[in-house]
Amino acid sequence: MKPVIALVGRPNVGKSTLFNRCTKTRDAIVADFAGLTRDRHYGDGRMGKREYIVIDTGGFEPTAETGIIKEMAKQTRQAVAEADAVIFVVDVRAGLSAQDHDIASYLRTTGKKVLLAVNKAEGMRDAPALAEFYELGMGEPIPVSAAHGQGIRSLIELALEGFEEAEDEDETPEADRPIRLAVAGRPNVGKSTLINAWLGEERLVAFDMPGTTRDAISVPFERDGRKFELIDTAGLRRKGKVFQAIEKFSVVKTLQAIADAHVVLLLIDATQGVSDQDAHIAGYVLESGRAVVIAINKWDAIDSYQRQMLERSIEARLSFLKFAPMVNISALKRQGLGPLWKALGEAHASAFKKMSTPVLTRLVQDAVQHQQPQRVGAFRPKLRYAHQGGMNPPIVVVHGNSLEHVSESYKRYLEGRIRAHFGLVGTPMRIEMRSGD
Ligand code: GDP
Ligand code: GDP
Repeated sequence: MKPVIALVGRPNVGKSTLFNRCTKTRDAIVADFAGLTRDRHYGDGRMGKREYIVIDTGGFEPTAETGIIKEMAKQTRQAVAEADAVIFVVDVRAGLSAQDHDIASYLRTTGKKVLLAVNKAEGMRDAPALAEFYELGMGEPIPVSAAHGQGIRSLIELALEGFEEAEDEDETPEADRPIRLAVAGRPNVGKSTLINAWLGEERLVAFDMPGTTRDAISVPFERDGRKFELIDTAGLRRKGKVFQAIEKFSVVKTLQAIADAHVVLLLIDATQGVSDQDAHIAGYVLESGRAVVIAINKWDAIDSYQRQMLERSIEARLSFLKFAPMVNISALKRQGLGPLWKALGEAHASAFKKMSTPVLTRLVQDAVQHQQPQRVGAFRPKLRYAHQGGMNPPIVVVHGNSLEHVSESYKRYLEGRIRAHFGLVGTPMRIEMRSGD
């Protein structure tokens, strides 16, 4: 599981700036969909090989009694509760404030690991200005500059210390391991009903797995000779012979499960349409690069007018997941489950498709012959050859010259041709350009 780091501090100390530093948006796919990420407070970070989740909490005033400030305080408490480590951000230019003291006393009561980041300290290694922050009793103040990118690396290293991932000693190729499936969706969408329908139908290899960290459950089962592993997303708990979603919706749990999965099943409630929460989860799935299948549940419960409304809300809010197959199901009546399995299997196979260098190179050359990339000023991008750079999501690395001038729309054109050739469905894919000049 990815460790979770929460950024806490009063307004204006530089939390958002630090958040951007820590997450350094990994790919550009999402940038095309303005509005999707802008108000997102959860981000993915990576440091070398280690991945983590960062939560930006907005401004925090622990003593606020009413209104929006109180709401923010609540959100912050939630974020801290979900975090493995807290980075408490203060502002060296503004100096220590009463609010900082309040936050410090609150953080102490949580028993969480806290690091004190003294921001805006560009060019101030051991300046006396740092000394006053010892008063907070949060250990040694760590000078950083979020805006200038100073001290960030060691700050994150400190935050991640002690949360090392266990070495993966399993030599089985990823594609041959059980398909790790995360079922995501808001409360009441029908997650437990679906999972119980599956588990009632299928022979269970083993019901209980020793609890891993954070009491996550993971249920192995088989379907048509294929091994699956169901990852806990909704705080599903076993109750007697069935699973129930007993916890409140937790964004962090969902994010961790998505990160851990090969394929995400995003459940939408047909009777409710696509909610903000659904769109957020979908955005995160896209960003994570995981394969995804959308299932519209409770299909049995809507009439033709509602179907029209539903189609419209899907069109409007999930258009960025066009590559994802969509299946109408009724978990309650066990309808549509066959096609759903088929779609999940195809999405998994697509995510782990092997694409050989000669075939990719020929595809790229054919594509260029059919339509040249646009000249930009004196530069005409020259695409020479391509190889596969990764799986889940499939990554295609194109080599050539002046490739930084290849437009987004040309990349989409290439993607379309590669998808069509390999029959890739249900997985995002990435195209990276590497110029040799
Ligand atoms: P937040 O309210 O805590 O999220 O703070 P922001 O990230 O929005 O930053 C508040 C202001 O501080 C902005 O004007 C930033 O440009 C500025 N700022 C953030 N980090 C630094 C830094 O490292 N040095 C300086 N000098 N300014 C910074
Ligand atoms: P969860 O919170 O996502 O686990 O949702 P549940 O599985 O507990 O389902 C919430 C409610 O929706 C329950 O009353 C279910 O009986 C109902 N429900 C689930 N699937 C369907 C379905 O396919 N059709 C209809 N009509 N109701 C469903």
